[in-house]
Amino acid sequence: MARVYNFSAGPSVLPESVLNRAAAEMLDYQGSGQSVMEMSHRSKVYDAIIKECEALLREVMNIPDNYKVLFLQGGASSQFAMIPLNLLNKSGKADFVLTGQWATKAYKEAARYGEAKAIASSKDKTFSYIPSLDEADFTKDADYFHICMNNTIYGTRFTTLPQTGDVPLVADISSCILSEPIDVSKFGVMYAGAQKNMGPAGLTVVIIREDLIGNAQEITPTMFNYATHSENDSMFNTPPCYAIYVCKMVLEWLRDDIGGLENMKAINEKKAAVLYDFLDSSKLFSATVEKKDRSLMNIPFVTGNEELDAKFVKEAAAAGFVNLKGHRSVGGMRASIYNAMPVEGVEKLVAFMKEFEANN
Ligand SMILES: *Cc1c(COP(=O)(O)O)cnc(C)c1O
Repeated sequence: MARVYNFSAGPSVLPESVLNRAAAEMLDYQGSGQSVMEMSHRSKVYDAIIKECEALLREVMNIPDNYKVLFLQGGASSQFAMIPLNLLNKSGKADFVLTGQWATKAYKEAARYGEAKAIASSKDKTFSYIPSLDEADFTKDADYFHICMNNTIYGTRFTTLPQTGDVPLVADISSCILSEPIDVSKFGVMYAGAQKNMGPAGLTVVIIREDLIGNAQEITPTMFNYATHSENDSMFNTPPCYAIYVCKMVLEWLRDDIGGLENMKAINEKKAAVLYDFLDSSKLFSATVEKKDRSLMNIPFVTGNEELDAKFVKEAAAAGFVNLKGHRSVGGMRASIYNAMPVEGVEKLVAFMKEFEANN
């Protein structure tokens, strides 16, 4: 069967070269006579894989030395609790910008462990924009300030960061990690589920400034304490071994085939422009997000007619463009065009949309 163009929001498309290599190494990883899935995480051969994965992530993202990289499980969703448990340790207060479902979940979970304040929200217009922020509203003595950098469901992203001063900025970067360069030093914590831009589901990456580790609340479960994982180089218990191995290959692809994050950004901007330009000129389809806040990764769009939306999703799937149905809370369609989606995939989708428009 031919491979489809997969526009899934996550788990999502992976580079074909990575999948081929995983297949080639499935039964015998580099002469070990075993699959990476089968080997002990304490073995020398696996130790080299996890160390190389971290080194590559540090290189590709240019992560400063005073940040720890943790390879965890539990998804980005576990971080909604892990962050307040570890960071709410002085004033017990944190600020949140409610830009969608994930940001709201982070806010609600934090409220269980301290005082969570919603600084701004874009719920009034189905989260179709990033609200403007007034620094006067920020909690001066907050233990952290949380944003969801790219809103996977609604297709918005922060293009400028809130100026939080000494208050650590914490960002959910699940759906934009590795899509373009990010200045890590501007953040206290960044976290991401791997299944959008890094590899298979099961791996969660946390990048955390060292001084924020070690003062978790008393009630924090051992497995939810960053110190546990930091002190053990992400080997306190069995890490998500295979997902880390695939992530390592994705990072090699990013560095060696793409040429790093500046190049990745240029490709992603090109892909997004192909789709947005069409949406802005189409008489049938339209984008749902305010221009200034549009995501490079997740692009929701509608025809304005639910039946026609459903027809489009069905016909697109039959033509090999799959997972285009929008999130249930937005309706319509959403094309997630993560790193591994080739430019050609977006161009062919637009050609298909033009044809659909002409026929309907
Ligand atoms: C997918 C996603 C999540 C949820 O991730 P899990 O790994 O399923 O817990 C959280 N935040 C954002 C921005 C996401 O895109």
